[in-house]
Amino acid sequence: MLSPKKSIFLILAAAPLFATALDYAAEGKLWWAHVQFLADDKLQGRNIGTPEFQIAVDYVAGRFRKLGLKPAGTAGYLQPVHFESRTLAPEKSSLTLIRDGKEAPLVLGADANLSARADLAPKLEAPMVFVGYGLVIPEAHWDELSGLDLKGKIAVYVNAPGPAEATGPVKSHLGSGAERWRVLHEAGAIGVGTIAAGGRGGPPAGSPAGRGAPTPSISLADPALSETTGMAISLSFTAPGADKLFEGSGHTLSEIQSLVHDNRPLPHFGLAGTLRSQAVLKRDTLDSPNVVGMAPGSGKWKDEYVILSAHLDHVGVGRPVNGDNIYNGAMDDASGIATILEVARLLKESRFKLKRSVIFLAVTAEEKGELGSRYFAAHPTVSFSKIVADINLDMFLPLYPLKVIEVQGLMESTLGESVKAAAAVDGVDVQADQEPAENRFIRSDQYSFIRRGVPALAFKFGYQPGSADEATRKNWVRDRYHKPSDDLSQPVDTAAAAKFDRIILRLLETVANDPARPSWHDDSFFKRFSTAP
Ligand SMILES: [Zn+2]
Repeated sequence: MLSPKKSIFLILAAAPLFATALDYAAEGKLWWAHVQFLADDKLQGRNIGTPEFQIAVDYVAGRFRKLGLKPAGTAGYLQPVHFESRTLAPEKSSLTLIRDGKEAPLVLGADANLSARADLAPKLEAPMVFVGYGLVIPEAHWDELSGLDLKGKIAVYVNAPGPAEATGPVKSHLGSGAERWRVLHEAGAIGVGTIAAGGRGGPPAGSPAGRGAPTPSISLADPALSETTGMAISLSFTAPGADKLFEGSGHTLSEIQSLVHDNRPLPHFGLAGTLRSQAVLKRDTLDSPNVVGMAPGSGKWKDEYVILSAHLDHVGVGRPVNGDNIYNGAMDDASGIATILEVARLLKESRFKLKRSVIFLAVTAEEKGELGSRYFAAHPTVSFSKIVADINLDMFLPLYPLKVIEVQGLMESTLGESVKAAAAVDGVDVQADQEPAENRFIRSDQYSFIRRGVPALAFKFGYQPGSADEATRKNWVRDRYHKPSDDLSQPVDTAAAAKFDRIILRLLETVANDPARPSWHDDSFFKRFSTAP
């Protein structure tokens, strides 16, 4: 116990800290109220194209108005985005291996699945080549396509990062479906087949539909923004299907899988026979808007913009888990929308005195492949060259007191130093991505800006390896990520979220007021995409 004298001194010294703690509790309640609205069962998981998503849109636009933000969409606060939806009709579709004139059907679901992410050709027959990981990483002197003839062929690859030595962000970027397809398409391939890195495949992580009804694949209606141009077939093999695929090639799935497991290079070889595919797609269109508000700057760089983004959509209703079929998306990403609304409120209270302008961007269709942000980055409502940074909030997971912030993109640009300084004021540390294999660098809307050369960051509550916090975060991902239990009944540290919001506000102020625009580090791979003056 402390002596009485010391206690008196400490009470005086601690008063401001105590007041701050009270603020965080109160601010945390305001933050949580937004989450409560957006993740209520009434909003049915905010899937795009639903009336409930529109309720979320109206809520955010209404808050933007109340907060005094200027409309910065193309129709008031809204930027309409058009989408195409494609759904495979499995009963009218088929896959057949043809070898020595003999037909061996691949059973849809059991052996392989066709993906409507590509605008599948109604009919085709083509030879196949196994291309290992299908990666080209010049920086790592890694080129799996050199010497291969892929013209008119289907490239089959294992969906794993492989042993090439490059940074997490570079491997995530070049290993993305879009980048793998870009190099395969350039090499002449007409489609792709994928084999899961381990195990037996099944529905992709995060698919609420699972087995049963085929999930529609959503893409941007603008063909210029398609990432599957020229892809006439896209399929994935299950383990039994891959066994059949490798027959007659001199290789086996178990040989390939053990090389993948040991993180070794893979052989490349032609596969026996041809694959015949027949695919029928049901097509539809839908519209869903981004919501865009602006706090105009008042300094000499007021025609430059810092974006604060989060995604408004989630995955809707789907397969029930423990009797609950509403995927509320409280952390994913009502929490991020709540943070941009709270930051806007705090800015308003400080009378918006920033030198650059701030764009508050609530994007649609992140869960369909970061489509709303990709659309905004391609069709920005302000001059693209004047966008200096994107600070993205997605599922930052305030599940415990904030001690360290994990930052995706920390080492790539000067924004890394800015977030360190902003966090240090509260005694909060900053750490790089702890789980690069999870590809979080490319798994939210910041990536839409990074690909176009705009420095950007995303965040999670971090942890020390081996700590209770690590277990809490990993258990959350295992038990609640893209599940109905990401709802309002889960434990959330709302005061910690408020503390995080204050750090984001401080980061935003730094970026908006710094005479120098954020810039890529010279050794960043992504600097090449920059079009900044
Ligand atoms: Zn998500």
